[in-house]
Amino acid sequence: MTARIIDGKKIAAEIRGEVAVRAKACAEAGVVPGLGVVLVGDDPASRVYVGMKTKACAEAGIRTRDVIRNSEISQAELLAIVDDLNEDPGIHGILVQLPLPRGLSEHEVTGRIDPAKDVDGFHPVNQGRMTQGDSSAFRPATPAGVQELIRRTGVETSGAHVVIVGRSNIVGMPMSAIMLQKEPTANATVTVAHSRTRDLGAITRQGEILIVAVGVPELVRGDMVREGAVVIDVGVNRVEDPSRPKGYRLAGDVAFEEAAERASWITAVPGGVGPMTIAMLLRNTVRSAERMAGLES
Ligand code: NDP
Repeated sequence: MTARIIDGKKIAAEIRGEVAVRAKACAEAGVVPGLGVVLVGDDPASRVYVGMKTKACAEAGIRTRDVIRNSEISQAELLAIVDDLNEDPGIHGILVQLPLPRGLSEHEVTGRIDPAKDVDGFHPVNQGRMTQGDSSAFRPATPAGVQELIRRTGVETSGAHVVIVGRSNIVGMPMSAIMLQKEPTANATVTVAHSRTRDLGAITRQGEILIVAVGVPELVRGDMVREGAVVIDVGVNRVEDPSRPKGYRLAGDVAFEEAAERASWITAVPGGVGPMTIAMLLRNTVRSAERMAGLES
C-alpha cells in the first residue's frame, strides 16, 4: 500500500478561514477576540513560533498583545504579567510560550492563568474537565489538532485501536484522554507507549491509528507500522544535513518513506500536525471570545 497524504496545511487553512468568519461575528457583536502572548528569553524556536502565531492571529482578525521579556525576569514578575492579562477584558486567551528559561516554574505559571482564558488547555482545571468528558473545557492545541486532522480525513475512530507513542503532558497524555472520550470522533480503544515500553514495534503494529510524539527522529520504522494504518507524526526534529542551505532538515518521529509504504494515510513533517497546532489555538481563542460575546453555539 502507498499512503495518501493528510495535508495539515490545507486543513489548517480551512480552520483558520472558519475562525476568521467567527472572529468577524464577534467583532460585530462588540467583542474583538484578543490573545495575550508571553515570550520569555531568547530561544530561537520559541521566537519563530510566537511570530507565526501573531501573524496567524492578525490574518484571522484576532488582536494580540505581546509581552516579551528577557530571561532575567523573576517568577513573581512573570506571575504579575499573567495576572494583568487575566484582568484585561480585551484578552480572551493567554498563551505563555514554553519552555520557560531555567529557574522559572512552568507549572506555577500555567496554573496561574484564568482557566476561562487558558486557550492552550494546559491548566489542571481544563485538563481535569476534559478528562471527565466536559466538552466546554479547552483542549490542548496539538492533540486537538490531531483529532481534527483525523476527523476531517473521514477516518473512523469509533472502536478503532489507537496506539499513541509518548505520554507528555502537552501531547501524548491529553491525546489519550481525547481519543477515549465518548464522542463520535473518538470512542477509540487506546494504548499509550513510552520509553519504558517493551518491544515497541509489537505495540505500534497493533495500531489502526498510530500517533507518534516522542521527539526522536524517525524512531518508528516502516516495519513498526500496521498494514493500512493511519499514521500521524507529531514529531518535529532538526537533523544535521550539510546538503541543505541551513545545514539541517526537519524530520518527524516516523521514517516517512518506509511508513508510507504500509500506511493508508500519513502526515508529513513539515506540513502535517504543525500547522494544526496554531489553527486550534486560534479556534480556542475565538471560542473564548464567543463566550464573552454570548455567541457560543
Ligand atoms: P517530551 O519529550 O515531553 O515527551 C516525549 C515522550 O516520548 C515521553 O513520554 C517519552 O517517554 C517518550 N519517548 C522518548 N523516547 C522514546 C523511545 N525511544 N521509545 C518510546 N517512547 C519514547 O516531548 P513532547 O511530547 O513535548 O514532543 C514530542 C515531539 O512532538 C517532539 O518532536 C516535539 O518537537 C513535537 N511537538 C510538535 C508539536 C507540533 O505542533 N507539531 C507540538 C508539540 C510537540 P517517557 O515519558 O518514558 O520519558
